[in-house]
Amino acid sequence: MQTAEKIQYNPAVFTAVLNKLLLAIGTSDNLEEMLQTFLCESVDQLRLNNAHVYLMNNVDPTTEQAHASPAYHHYLSAEDSEHPLPHSHDQVSASMNSLGHDSERSVAVVRVGGVRYFIYGLEQLGFMLLEFSHNEFPEAMANVLAPVMYRLALACTSCLKISQLEKQINTNKTLEKSYEEQANRDPLTKLPNRRAFRYNLYQEIANTRRYDRYGAVLYIDLDHFKNINDSLGHSVGDMLLTKVADRLTKESRAGDDVYRLGGDEFVYILRNVGNTESFAINTSQAVARRLLDAMAEPIHVGDYTLHVTPSIGVTIFPDTNTDENDGESVLKHADTAMYKAKSDGRNTFAFYDPEMQVSASKRLILEDYLRKAINNEELFLEYQPVVDASGQIIAAESLVRWSNPALGSVSPDDFIGIAEETNLMLDVSNWVLNTACAFARELKSRLNDSTMFRYVTINISPKQFKQQNFVPKLREVLKRHNLSSNDIRLEFTENILIDNIDDTIAKMEELLSSNIKFILDDFGTGYSSLSYLHKLPIRTIKIDKSFVTGFKYKSYANKAIVDAIIAMADRMDLRCIIEGVETKDDADYFIGKNVFAMQGYYYYRPLSGNGLIELLTHQE
Ligand code: C2E
Ligand code: CA
Ligand code: CA
Repeated sequence: MQTAEKIQYNPAVFTAVLNKLLLAIGTSDNLEEMLQTFLCESVDQLRLNNAHVYLMNNVDPTTEQAHASPAYHHYLSAEDSEHPLPHSHDQVSASMNSLGHDSERSVAVVRVGGVRYFIYGLEQLGFMLLEFSHNEFPEAMANVLAPVMYRLALACTSCLKISQLEKQINTNKTLEKSYEEQANRDPLTKLPNRRAFRYNLYQEIANTRRYDRYGAVLYIDLDHFKNINDSLGHSVGDMLLTKVADRLTKESRAGDDVYRLGGDEFVYILRNVGNTESFAINTSQAVARRLLDAMAEPIHVGDYTLHVTPSIGVTIFPDTNTDENDGESVLKHADTAMYKAKSDGRNTFAFYDPEMQVSASKRLILEDYLRKAINNEELFLEYQPVVDASGQIIAAESLVRWSNPALGSVSPDDFIGIAEETNLMLDVSNWVLNTACAFARELKSRLNDSTMFRYVTINISPKQFKQQNFVPKLREVLKRHNLSSNDIRLEFTENILIDNIDDTIAKMEELLSSNIKFILDDFGTGYSSLSYLHKLPIRTIKIDKSFVTGFKYKSYANKAIVDAIIAMADRMDLRCIIEGVETKDDADYFIGKNVFAMQGYYYYRPLSGNGLIELLTHQE
């Protein structure tokens, strides 16, 4: 410290020092920060050795406690670099105590071993110690500093009050949250309760409308739970309910919630079970079946091994057959369905809507049979010739057929959809791909080099297309059958675009780089065909048969659409295939339009592999 340079104690200079100290008080809401700034400024301006703040223990200006216990603790210090902190704090604070803690606005001057201290009370907070080693600072000035300390004390008090208020607000918020939690949770199982269910169901019903999707409620009631309660006592019953709750929670898909309505009644809200009713039926049925399986495992409670089965009522919302799509009605429907499950013999599920029940059972049966169809060799392929303008067969589309001893022949329109909603479609698709390639190989070896026949087309399902290793797998199959990529064409519909157009484009590019060509099938039925067409690496489109069949009798608008598609394809250098040509008139119309190829009952119906080979060998 530059002791040589002395502070000028004339009033003008000292007023400037006071002003600087006042400014250093600031308006921070951080007590430590504010005091630290002030202490440093004081050391600087007043040429102190060091300065210290002591706070009362449990300092809390809002309670009486502050007055009752005047014990202090050291809080902060600032020092001049050449005068480290003294070791006499205790001594000094003892003198402060002797000063009396009600002398808050007072000043004391204390000397300890040749060092002078000014001690200022900081209202009800504590006190501040300023240590001087030089004698130039007139003791009379101690009183002049008092108003500054008073201001500092006020600022500190409001700062503390603000932080206290903030703390209070935070505790209130935490409390509020925990009250809210308690009001929405079942105390036994810790699952959300009926109140939470009502609220979330209400929200999810709104979501299904907003996002154009379906949700489902599964109402789960344990069979004969009362017997367990009556025979083994309520505490065993309670433990069982907790274990059931755990199991139900474990089985729930991410985003789906389990609630306990009371007693032995639980509900699931299944969010987004699909965009179509049939998809929704399938998903909620799958969940219900999974729950039945999960509950079939015995539950251990203490020394008991208990078997509990559920009866599950399923309802899908929004229910398009009724206006009753509010939360109360949805719950009522699920409850009604649950009673149906009980009367069906328990340990089963039932849909509220009888038609859904039929459709669900039909699906179950179909799915069950279809699962075995491949091994039982019930699937086979037919091939429908594709012709050019002169009627020459240039290609054939492979179409899957299923003939089951119990069900008879099932149309692909009836089973492809179901297979697509389960993983079965992958098995079916693999089978189709292999069989069609084997047939393409056979054709190749049976036909002359001069043949007009060029390729077999294979319908690709969206699930198949989305498989990560779709393209490498395809190449592997081609290689295994000793085929070149020109021997086949893939057909897929716009449905493959729905989820992720970028992924789809990337995969199309991957196909093209392996020289595997494809056709966009059912063109015109997707909802945004034209808007994305220019983005896709497509060379050939197949105009959907719904625009074509019975063309002569169709509306003017239909003709306009087809003409527009053909004209657009021409401008974009796309080839057009017309499917569903059933009459000579239709055929003539499209021949006149210069389309690339045609397909339909007018030319050929789908035939067996041998039928096609025979036809082709005659054509040659
Ligand atoms: P698609 O790909 O549009 O197949 C053409 C459908 O139109 C076939 O019905 C075919 O028999 C029918 N068809 C052909 N010519 C005419 C005609 O002149 N008039 C009429 N009204 N219909 C005609 P199919 O075989 O019942 O197949 C229905 C759908 O099932 C197919 O529509 C396709 O989406 C799907 N599908 C069939 N086989 C497979 C397959 O192996 N894999 C996949 N993923 N889907 C397949
Ligand atoms: Ca097709
Ligand atoms: Ca088609």
